[in-house]
Amino acid sequence: MERRNFLKSSGLGLLAATFPTPALAGKSAKSGHLNLSFKPYDLKLRHAFNLAKSSRKNTPDVLTQIEYDGIIGYGEASMPPYLGESIESVTKFLSSIDLAQFTDPFRIDEILEYVDKFAPDNLAAKASVDIALHDLLGKIMGQPWYKIWGLSPENTPNTSFTIGIDTAEVVRQKVDEAAPYKVLKVKMGLNNDRETVEIIRQKTNVPICVDVNQGWDNKEKALETINWLAEKNCLFVEQPMPKEMIDETAWLRERSPLPIIADEAFRRLPDILGFKGVYDGINIKLMKSTGLHEAYKMVILARSLGMKIMIGCMTETSCAISAAAQLAPLAEWADLDGNLLISNDCFDGMKIVNGKITLADRPGIGVEVLRG
Ligand code: MG
Repeated sequence: MERRNFLKSSGLGLLAATFPTPALAGKSAKSGHLNLSFKPYDLKLRHAFNLAKSSRKNTPDVLTQIEYDGIIGYGEASMPPYLGESIESVTKFLSSIDLAQFTDPFRIDEILEYVDKFAPDNLAAKASVDIALHDLLGKIMGQPWYKIWGLSPENTPNTSFTIGIDTAEVVRQKVDEAAPYKVLKVKMGLNNDRETVEIIRQKTNVPICVDVNQGWDNKEKALETINWLAEKNCLFVEQPMPKEMIDETAWLRERSPLPIIADEAFRRLPDILGFKGVYDGINIKLMKSTGLHEAYKMVILARSLGMKIMIGCMTETSCAISAAAQLAPLAEWADLDGNLLISNDCFDGMKIVNGKITLADRPGIGVEVLRG
């Protein structure tokens, strides 16, 4: 990206003026200690992002770095408005925590427990620390995280590419753009649900998955639509009903020919405990799970409950996307297209090759900063 614009976009005068050199928010770097720095970054969307309950053209973001003896780990907090975090809340949280008290980056449990207990919520802010810490540790060890976890890179799934709710013309254009992808993700939950699928099916027969974003509140109608989708080469349905409608979702799941996946219904690890019999799988997103440390635990817990795993994302740069991709060999499905939906990605990272998530040998989370 263009470096000057990147710096201009930071918006906070107290931040130092260079990147990727640590830009410390009012603290001095101490050798042998963890040094956290961060700056705001506005993600610009290629298309307006229309969901059942909102529409937007940009996503606020904060880029983080943790430096330790000259090695830098990168992280990111992406803040779609519906999750309740903002540039202000994230910068306040990151300004308040004191990572410089830690001298051993390998004490990841202790460090992240401190960050998590510092204040409630702030999930994306916590994720930005977790991701940068994982990147740093992987670089110190000289290995990518999928290797550290012992995962086989060929087991990554295809990623879906999202087709939002839009006019017929825009939907057709997006389907053309999505030609390299093996799965299309269709947003539903407004009145033109079937119309969007019909338009897609006029152009291609690649499998679709459907994300309703809690948009259906009538279980009988929901089942009718899911039965219809099952005839349309649909793989699964994500969050069909409002998260509070637990009994109705369980009713729907029992009768649905397609797996029902939870997204808005959970954020943290303990939320999953009540999902058996309600959902068939979970969509793990680092911005809700507070990063990789807890996301990995979610995979283990969900699998022990007999559930399937999907790895998802917000609109993010290739930084958080590449971090999430390290877990992709553990997932049945992936929706890691958030970096493809923005026009100002400032990282090079995980690649999609013939629709499949392809992990590189780069250490840590597998990214490099793009310089203008
Ligand atoms: Mg979703």
